[in-house]
Amino acid sequence: MTTPLFEMMKTGGHEQILFCSDRETSLKAIIAIHNTSLGPALGGCRMWPYKTFDAALNDVMRLSRAMSYKAAVSNLPLGGGKSVIWGDPETDKTAALLKAFAKHIDHLGGRYIVAEDVGIGVPDIEAIRKVTSHVSGFPISDGGSGDPSPLTAYGVFCSMRACLEAVFGNASFEGKRIAIQGMGKVGTALAKLLHEADAKLYVSDMDPEKMAYATREFGADPIHGHEIYRVDCDIFSPCALGGTINERTIPSLSCPIVAGAANNQLEKPEDIRLLEERKILYAPDYVINAGGLINIYEELKGYDKDRAYKRVGAIYGRLKEVFALAQAEGVSTAAAADRIAEARLRVKSA
Ligand code: NAD
Repeated sequence: MTTPLFEMMKTGGHEQILFCSDRETSLKAIIAIHNTSLGPALGGCRMWPYKTFDAALNDVMRLSRAMSYKAAVSNLPLGGGKSVIWGDPETDKTAALLKAFAKHIDHLGGRYIVAEDVGIGVPDIEAIRKVTSHVSGFPISDGGSGDPSPLTAYGVFCSMRACLEAVFGNASFEGKRIAIQGMGKVGTALAKLLHEADAKLYVSDMDPEKMAYATREFGADPIHGHEIYRVDCDIFSPCALGGTINERTIPSLSCPIVAGAANNQLEKPEDIRLLEERKILYAPDYVINAGGLINIYEELKGYDKDRAYKRVGAIYGRLKEVFALAQAEGVSTAAAADRIAEARLRVKSA
C-alpha cells in the first residue's frame, strides 16, 4: 500500500496526506494538502458515505489538486487542499465527531483552512470553528461571507458574456437560449441573473419542485432527465454534478458553448477533443466557478461584499486570457487554463 500511495502523491503533486482517526467517535477522515507554494491550502470538507477507502482517497486527492489550480488561475495567494469525512452525514455526523476532526485541522497550524462542501453545512463549520480558527465560510451575521453560491453564479454569468463575445461577437443575452442542468443553489442564482438579462431558459433538476420554481419565477421551460443534453440552445450550463460532459453526452449537444458551475465537468481529460471536433467552445470549469473561492478569500481579509463582487467580475477578463492563449498556442481552452495555473505554481515553487 505504501509505495502506491507515495507514487500517487508524486504523480498528483501532493505535498501531504493526513489520515485522521479518533477512537471514541470512530472518526475516519482524510485531509489532502496538494500545494502550498502560493499560500495556505484552502478547500471544503466533504462528508460522504464512500463505498471504499480508495474512493474516499481518490476523491480527496482529485479535489485538492483542482483547488490548487483554481486558486492559481484566479491569482489568489492560496494553495489547494480538501478534506473528506468518510461517513453518512445524515446518520454519522455528531458534535463529538466534528470536534475530533477539528482538532486534526488545528494541529496543522493553518496549513489547511476548511470550508463547507457536500454534507458539511454552515452549522457544522460553526461547530468546527469552536475548536480551531483555521475555518472559512461562516455566516454574514458573524462577520463571515455567508453562502458562496450567488458569487459562484455571478462568476459563471460574467464568463458566459466572454463566451458569447467569442462565438457571436457580442455579449448580449437578449433572446439567447440557455439550458441549465441543476437548479440547486448556484443554478437558481444563475437562472435569476440570466432571466433579468432577458435570456430564454431551459432547466432540469431531479427535484420537480425546483423546476417548478424556475418555471414560475423565470419563465423557464422544464426539461426532463437526459433531454437537457439535446436542447437546441446557445449555451449548455452544467450546474449539477461532475462528469456530465463525456463521450455519451457530447454527440447529443446542440449548442456552440459549454459554460457551467459544476466541478470536474469533463469525465475524462480527453473529452475536450470531442468538444473541439464538434466546434463547441468550452469554458474551463475551475476558471469560471472560482467565485465562491474568491468570496471566501475576501472573508479572510475582512469581508466587503462590493469588493468581492468586483473581484469575481474579473473572471470575465481571465477567461478571455484563457481563450487568447488557447488560440495563440493552438491548444484547447482546458490546456490553456492548466498552463496558466501551472506557470504560477512553478514560479512560486522555484
Ligand atoms: P446543490 O446541491 O445546491 O445543487 C445541485 C442540484 O443538482 C440539486 O438541485 C440536484 O437535485 C441537482 N441534480 C443532481 N443530479 C442531477 C441530474 N442528473 N440532472 C439534473 N439535476 C441534478 O449544489 P450547488 O451548490 O448549486 O453546486 C452545483 C455545482 O457547482 C456542484 O457541482 C458544485 O460542486 C459546483 N460548485 C458550487 C459552488 C458553490 O459556491 N456552491 C462553487 C464551485 C463549484
